[in-house]
Amino acid sequence: MKNDNNESRRDFIKTGAKATLAAGISATALSSFAENIKLTGYNQQKETTPYTQTPLAYNYNTLEPSIDATTMEIHYTKHAAAYAKNLGDACAAENVNTQTTPLGTLLASVSKYSTKMRNNAGGHYNHELFWKTMTPQPSATMPSGKLSDIIIRDFNSFGAFKSQFSDAAKTRFGSGWAWLVYTNDKKLVIGSTPNQDNPLMDVSDLKGFPVIGIDVWEHAYYLKYQNKRPDYITAWWNVVDWNFIQQRFEANI
Ligand code: MN
Repeated sequence: MKNDNNESRRDFIKTGAKATLAAGISATALSSFAENIKLTGYNQQKETTPYTQTPLAYNYNTLEPSIDATTMEIHYTKHAAAYAKNLGDACAAENVNTQTTPLGTLLASVSKYSTKMRNNAGGHYNHELFWKTMTPQPSATMPSGKLSDIIIRDFNSFGAFKSQFSDAAKTRFGSGWAWLVYTNDKKLVIGSTPNQDNPLMDVSDLKGFPVIGIDVWEHAYYLKYQNKRPDYITAWWNVVDWNFIQQRFEANI
């Protein structure tokens, strides 16, 4: 069994290398290029996500057929709205000044607060990011620029990254999120968190700047996809806004 795993890992690496070579760039040249990219480092204390819901930039029905209108409406107006409201209530009860405390600072010390704070601060932040990383009309099916270079450096190819990210989303047991994270040691990694935890929390094993996250709670897909979470994940890629994601990546790290 162990040998089989090693074998398939080797095949996987070979396939990735072949794809890179096919693109006309050697893997070595690419990684030295990516190492020379100047990134200033993410400052979580300056995280500017507001404590209240931002209006959606698109209508509920515009992500169809990937995400149906009813799911979007209930998700935004009920689930996400409740996280925002409960976050406000928890902040009032636990003396967090939302005018002077960046959400990133609260998440970085969330272990000092109640479970209600942890669940709703995470729930609010995660959904605010999730809505922004989707668009009815994506201008690209994959990133370009620095984000693309670092994905190829760290995963060998965009295809290998996409497959590994999808696997993390499929295999997150129960409710939670799968993430692409840029770590403090300047690497892109894929992982997942339970419930509404996220990589900005001090309680999270997976830590760093969240580049993208996919909501794999049943409320995000069950009306249309029922038990078929993998089908939802496959369809979700069609509405990912790589343009926004790469601009946010370059602006923050
Ligand atoms: Mn959700």
